[in-house]
Amino acid sequence: MTDTAMMPTYARIDLSFEKGEGAYLFSTDGRRFLDFGAGIAVNSLGHSHPHMVKVLQEQAAKLWHTSNLFRIPEGELLAERLCEASFADQVFFTNSGAEALECSIKVARKYQSHIGNPEKYRVICCDGAFHGRTLATIAAGGGEKLLAGFGPAVEGFDHVAFDNLNEMKAAITPETAAIMVEPIIGEGGIIPASYDYLKGLRETCDEFGLLLIFDEVQCGLGRTGKLFAHEWAEVAPDIAASAKGIGGGFPLGACLATKEAAAGMVPGTHGSTYGGNPLAMAVGNGVLDVIMASGFFDSVNAISDYLSKELESLTNKHSDKIDLVRGSGLMLGIKITDAYPVGSVITALRENGLIAIPAAENTVRLLPPMIIEKTHVDEAVAILDSTLSAMAA
Ligand SMILES: *Cc1c(COP(=O)(O)O)cnc(C)c1O
Repeated sequence: MTDTAMMPTYARIDLSFEKGEGAYLFSTDGRRFLDFGAGIAVNSLGHSHPHMVKVLQEQAAKLWHTSNLFRIPEGELLAERLCEASFADQVFFTNSGAEALECSIKVARKYQSHIGNPEKYRVICCDGAFHGRTLATIAAGGGEKLLAGFGPAVEGFDHVAFDNLNEMKAAITPETAAIMVEPIIGEGGIIPASYDYLKGLRETCDEFGLLLIFDEVQCGLGRTGKLFAHEWAEVAPDIAASAKGIGGGFPLGACLATKEAAAGMVPGTHGSTYGGNPLAMAVGNGVLDVIMASGFFDSVNAISDYLSKELESLTNKHSDKIDLVRGSGLMLGIKITDAYPVGSVITALRENGLIAIPAAENTVRLLPPMIIEKTHVDEAVAILDSTLSAMAA
């Protein structure tokens, strides 16, 4: 790593880019890469999408920021559109995923206090989850790597095994306020929850008077071929956190909630100086213009079916190197056998022109932009195939 004035919290790859176009990135040293990482599921419409460039430039020439002291019509519109298309009635806009989760946790605690249960403040989360890097969200994640050295973990988070309803039920106490789960674990290795589990969580929350929070920061906003991944299970949460793809590359997050769940969030209870400013809202509306257009999710589903089938053939061919492929839509994980550390696979793929992202469980994560076509899938699969073939144990 080169020594720079930036705080060295990232193990950065010694590579930088000067431009992006659709599913491709062009490095400052003149190479072209097929980008199946999309800035960690953020560049949901690829790079320099013409509609996104247009909405950003138009808004940039008009108005960037006014603060939340005033009404923001672009934000009211975006909130209305998100609610129209989802379980939610209200939205709070943030600048990141972690802030969307912070807001979700606050909404849940406030709800319980508001309805006369101030003793209910704890949130049950899952092992292997990732909810962000703030003090509360590292406590929600619960992993030792996230928490080490940062003092006592923020109080109020309990942890159980993922996708295990019995454990979840057994962990509920009179102090439990909510259950918070990623419908598809992202950083933790691309592990989808079963639909029965998600349905069971809903029933459990209803039975015990708890709020159900889904962290859809990575899996949401179209990546699985529906606006939110939980729609596949036909389960609605009370609160959902969104970010990453919602801004298409502009820092934007959102906490969506039902009116009932957000009943305690009266003026003065939460805020953000930047959150939901006109520039961010224009970009968010731009993303929705594209992904909510009729037929868009059909094309996401068609291309992700094709990618999954190709990866299935790849798994059969390289059964000595691939344990399994899992995930949903354009959020897929290739779990590599332990003999081949995922870091070296990612490096080799990159050297061959494909950007993918490592995840836990020795998993190669594919999070391509939703605008990919068959030729991009063919190119990615060919690079995966030749890279795996060339790898010696
Ligand atoms: C990335 C991520 C977060 C944190 O988002 P930031 O924008 O980095 O704060 C939270 N939850 C999940 C599931 C994520 O993938």
